[in-house]
Amino acid sequence: MASPLQRLTILGSTGSIGLSTLDVVARHPDRYQVFALSAHGQLDKLVAQCAQFRPRHAVLADPARLPELRERLAVAGLGDIEASAGVQALEYVASHAEVDAVMAAIVGAAGMRPTLAAARAGKRVLLANKETLVMAGRLFMDAAREGGATLLPIDSEHNAIYQCLPQPFNDQPAQGVQRILLTASGGPFRQFSAEQLREVTPAQAVKHPNWSMGRKISVDSASLMNKGLEVIEARWLFDLQPERIAVVVHPQSVIHSMVEYVDGSVLAQLGNPDMRTPIAYGLAWPERIDAGVASLDLFQIARLDFEQPDTERFPCLALAFEALRLAGAAPAVLNAANEEAVAAFLDARIGFTDIAGLNEAALRSVSAAFDADSLDSLIAADASAREFARGWLSQHGH
Ligand code: NAD
Ligand code: MG
Repeated sequence: MASPLQRLTILGSTGSIGLSTLDVVARHPDRYQVFALSAHGQLDKLVAQCAQFRPRHAVLADPARLPELRERLAVAGLGDIEASAGVQALEYVASHAEVDAVMAAIVGAAGMRPTLAAARAGKRVLLANKETLVMAGRLFMDAAREGGATLLPIDSEHNAIYQCLPQPFNDQPAQGVQRILLTASGGPFRQFSAEQLREVTPAQAVKHPNWSMGRKISVDSASLMNKGLEVIEARWLFDLQPERIAVVVHPQSVIHSMVEYVDGSVLAQLGNPDMRTPIAYGLAWPERIDAGVASLDLFQIARLDFEQPDTERFPCLALAFEALRLAGAAPAVLNAANEEAVAAFLDARIGFTDIAGLNEAALRSVSAAFDADSLDSLIAADASAREFARGWLSQHGH
């Protein structure tokens, strides 16, 4: 039986995940139709994507650039595409009645509102934007449950875990699961000493050994903050207490994560480090489709290594566990501080090891003032953490 056409909204279509998503979509024109595309900067890319995929809507984050987008679409002969901008426009295309699935691939806390709108509207949510779960894990999971959404994790580790859990998976702790083993590449500085870490540059940090990704997540991978954010993400997605989440450094990035069961079985999902695999899985679930990914060559890989993570050199990982222990809005505070810290590092205003310094200071100073009971409280915690970060940066930055 032919599958019915799925209509997609792609939030963050010009980013690394957005491009990989459109690559998979283009391979299956009989299955997927693009309803909306969205971007922040990069109007050229957005207009080119509109020309190729002919969505009904093109949405910008920033309303100030809307006239320019309209103009460019008109010049390209794409005046029939409806251009809009701002958070409400993003929420609109994420929750529209004609949309079946939403790829949530905006980077950072900016992705939270439209991702939440998709969950509330009961969409199939392809969740790449991990910051939404870090910031508002419980609220988001409740919204997805109440809205009847189907959550499919796109983060490769969580996608692997999802594939290794008993199917159909619902968000109750799965029967017989002992713990999950979240793999981490260790990033480009895995073997650097504490002294060397102080001197690393933004250019070195965004060069990941195995994955090609956006700048923010690349820096997070280098600091192991990304693995910390993923621990928090797993805690909510799979309803697991932090003690049941172990991090394993695995430099080859071939095993994308594992699930250990009480009988001693450990199930793993393997594959080349190419995000098109989890994206295709999310798009087609419970079916499987070609993702354009090369076959895994185990003879060429030859060996798989495992190491303990070193939280002395990479304190951001420990800070994530600490944020879960503090509970309430602490993960939202950590996330917001980290976004500011990474932006400052990429601007060469602070050193690499200052990222952890700022994150820790914000976690200790801001967290207790906010709870996680409402979106307003979490947004206030996010704003307060950013304000704290600006103060910290004016003292410690250059
Ligand atoms: P990216 O920086 O390459 O792309 C981000 C996208 O979001 C772009 O389309 C950009 O225009 C848009 N955007 C940026 N700021 C925005 C704002 N304020 N409002 C609205 N849109 C905005 O990032 P990426 O690497 O594609 O990552 C996207 C998300 O997916 C992140 O949350 C990241 O953690 C997650 N993720 C990425 C990968 C990966 O391999 N790249 C893997 C796992 C998870
Ligand atoms: Mg990941």
